[in-house]
Parts: sequence; C-alpha cells; structure tokens
Amino acid sequence: MKFAMIGAGAMGLRYGILLQEAGNDVTFIDTWQPHIDKIREQGGVYQMRDHKDRHLVKIKLETPESYNGDPDMLIFFTKQMQLNDYLKRCSHFFNDKQYAFTCMNGMGHIEKLQKYFADDKIIGGTALIATVLPGPGEVDFMGKRGAGKLNMCPLTEKPDEMTHRLFDELQKADMNPTLTDDFTGTLMTKVIFNSVINTICTMFEIPMGEFGNFPGAADMARQLIDEAYDICARADIHLVSSRKEELHAIDINTRIDMPLHYPSMYQDMTKDRPTEVDYINGYIANLGRQYHYEAKTHLFMTQAVHLAEFHRQNL
Ligand code: NAD
Repeated sequence: MKFAMIGAGAMGLRYGILLQEAGNDVTFIDTWQPHIDKIREQGGVYQMRDHKDRHLVKIKLETPESYNGDPDMLIFFTKQMQLNDYLKRCSHFFNDKQYAFTCMNGMGHIEKLQKYFADDKIIGGTALIATVLPGPGEVDFMGKRGAGKLNMCPLTEKPDEMTHRLFDELQKADMNPTLTDDFTGTLMTKVIFNSVINTICTMFEIPMGEFGNFPGAADMARQLIDEAYDICARADIHLVSSRKEELHAIDINTRIDMPLHYPSMYQDMTKDRPTEVDYINGYIANLGRQYHYEAKTHLFMTQAVHLAEFHRQNL
C-alpha cells in the first residue's frame, strides 16, 4: 500500500518506519526545517529502541510543497495545533479517492479533516504506545518490537475494504490494531485517559510511574474520570471502557507498563513547545459547557498546565 505520513515526528516516524519494514511504500512529509536538514544530511533517520541499537533507517522525505505523489492513505501525526497548517499546505495533493487515518491524541482534529476528506474516507484511532523524538533526525521507539496497541474505527462505523487493508498492514507491522465499532466513544475514552496521565505528569514534570505509585493517584484520577464520564453520558457518547476499567487502565499503564516514560505532553513542555492540553482537558470542559455541566477539575487542570507553560517561558 502507498502511504504518506503527514508529520514525521515521533509517531509519524514510528508508524511509517514499521509500515515501510512491513513492505509498504512510505513517504514522510514534514515542515520542521532542522529535522528536514538533519535527515537529508544523514541520509535517513537514526532510530533507537529504548535508547539502544542506534542505526540509520533510510526514508523518503518531502515537504508539503515538494510532494506530488498520489498515496492511497494519508496518516496524520501532527500535534493538534499544527494540523490546520499541514492540511492547508498539503491540500494540493489530496484527492477524493484517498483515505485519511489518524491516531492523534485529543479532539478537534476530526472536524478539521472533514473539511478536506469525505466522512467515508476518514478512519480515526487511538495509539497506546510511547515514542520520543530526542532531537532532529532521531527517533526512539520505547518498548520492545510488538509493544503497544492501537484502536481504529472508520468515521462511518462501517469498515470497508480499505479499512480492512489498513488493519492488515498495521497488523503485519506488529502494531496490534483492534477494530472498534464506536468512533466517538473510542476516541473519547483515550482523551479521558490522557486527561489524567498526560496532564498530571506534565504539570509536575514526573514520569508516569511516580504518579501511579502516589497513594492519592486513584482519587485524583477518579475525580477527573467521573467529571468526564458524567459529561459523556449527557452528550450520549458511549465510552468503550467503564469508569472502573479506565481507572484500572491508568493504574496498570503508569505503575506497570510504562513507569519510566514521560508522556508526549511533558516532552512538548520541556522543549518549550505548546502542549495539547486545550484539546484534552480543555476539550472535555468545553463539551461539558454545551450540556450545562461545569467540569471544574478539567478547567483547573487546563489552566494549571498553562501556568506551568507560562512559568517555563519566564525562566
Ligand atoms: P511530534 O512533536 O514528535 O511531531 C509532530 C510534528 O512536530 C512533526 O512535524 C515534527 O517534525 C514536529 N516537531 C517535533 N519537534 C519539534 C520542535 N522541537 N520544534 C518544531 N517542530 C517540531 O509529535 P508526536 O509525538 O509524533 O505526536 C503526534 C500526535 O500523536 C499527537 O497528537 C500526540 O499527542 C499523539 N501521540 C503521541 C505519542 C508519543 O508517544 N509520542 C503517543 C500517542 C499519541
């Protein structure tokens, strides 16, 4: 299958390199000039796994303006606030046969994709995997080969032939896909998961295990989960996990699965980049407003992360 990875950051590189190794034709498209320059100078990307086995992987890299290919599937892995710019700059090679797939965190991206792609060409998903971009031209895949998993669901909730082909390619690439049958429920369940772990670990600049092992972690998580689940019930969003299962997933993920990992939101803040908090806790709080529910904790968390960003800007 012919793929274009829109955004060749940590996740774009991980998905793209694994799909390339599984035999697909992959082109990476990026706009961050120091990264583009480094990849061209090196003749590829240096890939590691858990900081070890650093080796060069050759990739095809283009900018939105230089690319003129016709991929079957575009995979979007930008940060939420970068997506509009990427869509605008890439739109010259979009056509109505192409599919758009994304496992970006947060919410807000689907509406933006819908401005360029028909609903029956959009496949959404969520990625439970940790990947780090230590600097331009370098990517670190955290976890062993086959680590992590992803959920995917077409926006129509009716998987077609291309959905199944994508699923098969992701499976061949050892990415452990699961096809779900509720689009919004799948995405929102991950938004709630991130609204606990990403936000708290970023605010305190701590690895996930430090939060998971904190005796008050379950109470903090439960408060955020309860608000978000109350809002989703009002919005008629059917989450794919119960409150108890979400709490359990957060506990296992932080304490057992990835105790040493810092979430991607932390990585942005410590590189003085804006975080995605407005698209995670901020999104939940805004959704609450539409249903006359004041998500006080999510609002507070959104501002607390902005305060942490503000503090770093003034260092
Ligand atoms: P990323 O920041 O690594 O890359 C996104 C874009 O930002 C790329 O175009 C990249 O070249 C550019 N970029 C990277 N560092 C930059 C810098 N210092 N200055 C300017 N531009 C820079 O993002 P990602 O981690 O690949 O995340 C993409 C999406 O996937 C996000 O929604 C994220 O929340 C989600 N996600 C990430 C992970 C993870 O472990 N990284 C896991 C699950 C979901």
